[in-house]
Amino acid sequence: MTVEAAGRRVVTVDRDRLSARLEHEVEAFRQSHPRSLELSERSRSSLLFGVPMSWMARWAGGFPVFVQAANGARVVDVDGHEYVDLCLGDTGAMAGHAPEPVVQALAAQAARGSTAMLPTEDAAWVGEELARRFGLPFWQFALTATDANRFALRLAREVTGRGKVLVFDWCYHGSVDEALAATQYGVVGPRAGNVGPPVHPALTTKVVQFNDLDGLEEALRAKDVACVLAEPALTNIGIVLPEDGFHDALRELTRETGTLLAIDETHTLSAGPGGCTRAWDLEPDIVTVGKAIGGGMPAAAFGVSAELAERITARTGADYEDTGGIGGTLAGNALSLAAVRATLEHVLTEAAFARTIPLAERFTADVSETIEDVALPWHVTQLGCRAEYRFRPTPPRTGAEAADSIDAELDRYMHIHALNRGVLLTPFHNMALISPATTEADVEIHSEVFREAVKELLG
Ligand code: PMP
Repeated sequence: MTVEAAGRRVVTVDRDRLSARLEHEVEAFRQSHPRSLELSERSRSSLLFGVPMSWMARWAGGFPVFVQAANGARVVDVDGHEYVDLCLGDTGAMAGHAPEPVVQALAAQAARGSTAMLPTEDAAWVGEELARRFGLPFWQFALTATDANRFALRLAREVTGRGKVLVFDWCYHGSVDEALAATQYGVVGPRAGNVGPPVHPALTTKVVQFNDLDGLEEALRAKDVACVLAEPALTNIGIVLPEDGFHDALRELTRETGTLLAIDETHTLSAGPGGCTRAWDLEPDIVTVGKAIGGGMPAAAFGVSAELAERITARTGADYEDTGGIGGTLAGNALSLAAVRATLEHVLTEAAFARTIPLAERFTADVSETIEDVALPWHVTQLGCRAEYRFRPTPPRTGAEAADSIDAELDRYMHIHALNRGVLLTPFHNMALISPATTEADVEIHSEVFREAVKELLG
């Protein structure tokens, strides 16, 4: 059937056909992955949810493929299938799997000792490199982006003496209590499904729609917000890009109200070597970044401006060194810093982004072309070496608008169809990430598979 949407004639998806195609693909997956199925069934008796971490159960086939090996942009499973990996560990492997410089640095450092509660030379190198990339002079380390964000919020509350945090609706910054909040009709509450929130999020958090400057101004007016924690573009409800002037106004409003601005570059590092902070000349007080910087090893970091560093160190009553709430015994360990150094020095370099971003452009152009050819009311958004398609005709302005276009059944069909044809997409998104090891041929494989998926869907 065709209908009018966003000023053009578009086709609608026949739901019965979608269900039938999905069922067919799920059965084909089950048949062709006997060893993964066997391991999955075995794991149910020892692992809660049958997987080492609950979100690994989210893959479209009903059970995950078990990995034999992952190298470059490819994953091989225990049934011998090889995949073009566009998920890349949901950004943890944006540097590609097992990049040679990281493998070598890890082996060398492991042989010299992994953790001694003492710094190594790599720490100084990495601090200098992060300062060069993001423009903030002083850095600290954590093992996850969640922790980097948690520590940033604590420091913001400490120096401002304010209790609240502001986040944008449908953000995700890891399992940070303050950020697991949502708003409906202007009322803040726990994000749907929030597991055991410690307190009602309205006590800790204000939530505003992305790109809503009036809402932001109103929320900051009371001067009770310690920190705005924001991704430069939302990336966890599909990609929602900032409108022109949004970041300038966000910075102006935060400065005017004495609110700190923390920019979470964990996913938006895709925009280039210094993330959006550098690509868009942002001027945050704090940058947090995790996942990709360790080349697959757990590592994260946060950087602060010179002015904020002064305010932090002036707080002589704050216990930054022991049990004050910031830290982690293994944070900044020699092994993870060796991995970060190798990743930044040799893998996620300027030259690498000069290759990966054009490949993401190619991905975007191919997917757009198919969408237009078959007249589906979908579109695709790109942010550096990351791209994501979505089931609505135009880009959303806010997280709430983006959330309205979620179609779980359609998502599942696109994912399992791709999986059955050797392409991995990130389970929570229709997101594709390009690593330095990804080739044009890999992108072309996805383009073909995507075209085939929509053709089969439309019949
Ligand atoms: N920040 C952002 C923007 C993220 O998307 C995520 C995780 N998807 C995190 C922080 C948390 O990362 P981690 O789960 O590695 O702590």
